Amino acid sequence: MLKQHVVVVGAGAFGGWTALSLLRSGARVTLVDAWGPGNSRASSGGETRILRATYKDRIYTDLVARALPLWLENEQRWGIKLFHQTGVLWMADENDALERAAAAHMRDAGLPFEELSAAEAARRYPQINFDGIRWALRETHAGFLLARRACAAVLESFRAEGGTYIQAAAEPGAIERGALKEIKLSDGSALVADQYVFACGPWLGKLFPDVIGERIKPTRQDVFFFGTPAGDARFTEESLGVWLDYGTRAWYGIAGNESRGFKIANDTRGPAFDPTNGDRTPDTSALKAAREYVAFRFPALRDAPLVESRVCQYEQTADSHFIIDRHPRAQNVWLAGGGSGHGFKFGPALGEWISQMVLGRRPVEPTFSFARF
Ligand SMILES: Cc1cc2nc3c(=O)[nH]c(=O)nc-3n(C[C@H](O)[C@H](O)[C@H](O)COP(=O)(O)OP(=O)(O)OC[C@H]3O[C@@H](n4cnc5c(N)ncnc54)[C@H](O)[C@@H]3O)c2cc1C
Repeated sequence: MLKQHVVVVGAGAFGGWTALSLLRSGARVTLVDAWGPGNSRASSGGETRILRATYKDRIYTDLVARALPLWLENEQRWGIKLFHQTGVLWMADENDALERAAAAHMRDAGLPFEELSAAEAARRYPQINFDGIRWALRETHAGFLLARRACAAVLESFRAEGGTYIQAAAEPGAIERGALKEIKLSDGSALVADQYVFACGPWLGKLFPDVIGERIKPTRQDVFFFGTPAGDARFTEESLGVWLDYGTRAWYGIAGNESRGFKIANDTRGPAFDPTNGDRTPDTSALKAAREYVAFRFPALRDAPLVESRVCQYEQTADSHFIIDRHPRAQNVWLAGGGSGHGFKFGPALGEWISQMVLGRRPVEPTFSFARF
């Protein structure tokens, strides 16, 4: 039987894993990306992403329970370390609905975690000022992933397993009689396939203005890396790792962070941002806020120097749920994106889901469908 040919546009966390999963499911797959996997404009760019299962909505806890073994399996297959299981420490204040809901989901899903009183947390983490914190939840299964490196590893594996990769900008061609005829590439050529998956992250709204448009809004997010005192063992992956101060505040970070510095960012959605030409110079007021927070919560880092920074963008939907659905007017087109600041960790599990949907082996998940809008 002739293999189905699927073109996937976008080699980030969503598209890369979808392409690999389609290939492993028996399809012929061509993957296209304008600037390469995990490039500096992409939402999957940068060094690290948190893997955690603390969610109010059960669907995400279950997706992490599926994604984690897939990360570990592929890591082993490729012989590279992509997941750092440092544990993830959640500092909960009086707004702890998220941590409470998530504890029940994780218990059900069999994902291990500990609940610590504020006094116990303070004993274990003397480098943190726990003022205002009522209790802490520590996900022991969780940690952080290497982002850019993982996207590159997925592409490398995709090519080694027989996939075709083209570096070009793609544009959907005409839709005729309920199907997309072709996609046009920036080198003037066209690609014709049985099905097409567009996993273009923050660019999806521009590519499909009528169907996606403002449903995915790219927002500017500043990330800072502070230098810790020389030889100080309190801010390593082993002694602290991933932490979140979530509830009234929305700060998170990664200590150690592959020696790049003490990573810190605010999860509050920033202003609208153009992923292609947006100015990625760090924002001084965002830096000031990060410094103030660090001085309060991690007093030993009060005067820590800024050693690096980066500006990324979330591709935000109104309800923070992803969009994974068929194009309403083209039955051979699938749209996948809207990671909304939390999509990376799910890559392998979403890749599996999307490939099954494309191959007609799984229905569209209502939480991620257009029908919800
Ligand atoms: C600062 C920051 C922190 C985050 N923290 C976390 C975290 O801790 N944990 C977590 O799980 N998630 C996190 N996320 C979210 C996560 O990184 C994203 O949801 C995820 O990476 C999105 O992947 P994507 O494949 O949809 O998009 P992208 O990675 O942007 O991939 C889209 C790809 O499409 C390509 N492309 C676009 N248009 C075209 C075109 N016309 N032709 C060809 N190619 C095209 C681009 O070059 C790009 O490579 C964070 C995001 C940011 C920005």
